[in-house]
Amino acid sequence: MWDAVIAGSGPAGSVAAHVLARKGRQVLLVDVVPRHTIKVGEALPGAALRLLRALSLPVPDGQEPHTPIGGNLSSWGSEDLAATDFFHDPDGRGWRLDRFLFDAELREAATSSGAGFKQARVLEAERESEAWRIKLDNGEIVAARWLIDATGRSSSLARRAGAKWQRDAPLTALFGIGQPQKEFRLNRTMVEAVPQGWWYAGLLPSGSPIVGLHLLPQDAGQFAASSAAWKKAMMETCHISAAFGGVTFNFPLRALDASGGRLSHFTGDGWLACGDAAMSFDPISAQGIVSALHSGMMAGMAIHGILEGDPTALNSYNSRLEDIRRIYLSRCRSIYQSETRWSNNHFWLQLRQPEHLSERSSFRSHTGLVNS
Ligand SMILES: Cc1cc2nc3c(=O)[nH]c(=O)nc-3n(C[C@H](O)[C@H](O)[C@H](O)COP(=O)(O)OP(=O)(O)OC[C@H]3O[C@@H](n4cnc5c(N)ncnc54)[C@H](O)[C@@H]3O)c2cc1C
Repeated sequence: MWDAVIAGSGPAGSVAAHVLARKGRQVLLVDVVPRHTIKVGEALPGAALRLLRALSLPVPDGQEPHTPIGGNLSSWGSEDLAATDFFHDPDGRGWRLDRFLFDAELREAATSSGAGFKQARVLEAERESEAWRIKLDNGEIVAARWLIDATGRSSSLARRAGAKWQRDAPLTALFGIGQPQKEFRLNRTMVEAVPQGWWYAGLLPSGSPIVGLHLLPQDAGQFAASSAAWKKAMMETCHISAAFGGVTFNFPLRALDASGGRLSHFTGDGWLACGDAAMSFDPISAQGIVSALHSGMMAGMAIHGILEGDPTALNSYNSRLEDIRRIYLSRCRSIYQSETRWSNNHFWLQLRQPEHLSERSSFRSHTGLVNS
């Protein structure tokens, strides 16, 4: 029997597996591993490198495929474009990742440390006398003492185990990926607030521009249905249009849920959730990957602690995640409240309302129904 089975080998699951394997635990990582496509969520802040180094994990080093980001260019709270330079950041520059390869590097580090890996989907898990009986989509059944849900925003196993999802303000991201640009150089992330939401833009390591509009789900339909409407809205920006106006985008757009949110509880009887499965972040916070790495590390340490007989390990894990959530909420609130130009527009009304980012929001199941 495995000490732990981890569903999902994104940054959170692979780091949890790596930590457990290095402690000598029998750990199995399970993921379908989609074919090589562009995975959105590719800006890694410099702070993440400290964590990767401390865990002896691969660090972007200027060799391909990942490319350095020198800073941000943002138009937020004013039409002016403000530059933030990572040169002044003690953690140094950030990185634009090839996310598929970054995730693969972390998975390989985990298996090199001794974790097992199966390319499969976890379909369901049943708790039977202190152990899990876990069913995979290749027909295999595996048994484990602990189950770690690192399935990303779906948090499918924690929800099956009874945890509820609490969504903050609803946010959809509509992304266009452009044809690679030969002459175009931009080593910054651009962010621009507009009446209906905010735009994000950068250049992927492949040279392909990535441009996304973040807006309320009810406003997304008109843009998702017509690429011309999305392109027209982009051309109405002051700064992003100046940099990306000449790009030819591949359509259809990708529509992604970008809302922040959390599980009602991060741990339960024999299970624990980490990464986006435990709590997800509005991308404006630029906190997703670094928090996934961090909670994956803490998840591995917590399970090892429990197996060693430490009765406080789960409580420490829960309270650390609550701290991260508190810091995130306060950061997000201050970012949205610093944009005051369109206070009566429904996007900014919703995102700036503190109750949409408060722990008092009702818990929702994944069906969207209010449960309590
Ligand atoms: C629009 C958008 C933009 C973003 N931009 C950024 C950014 O620029 N910078 C940043 O830091 N963060 C960003 N993020 C957030 C970041 O992508 C996530 O926080 C991060 O990927 C979370 O890592 P994870 O390991 O928890 O989950 P994921 O990376 O989502 O990995 C989950 C894994 O679980 C697997 N899986 C799912 N279900 C099962 C199952 N049943 N069985 C087996 N495997 C399963 C999946 O195949 C996947 O590999 C963004 C998010 C969005 C939505």
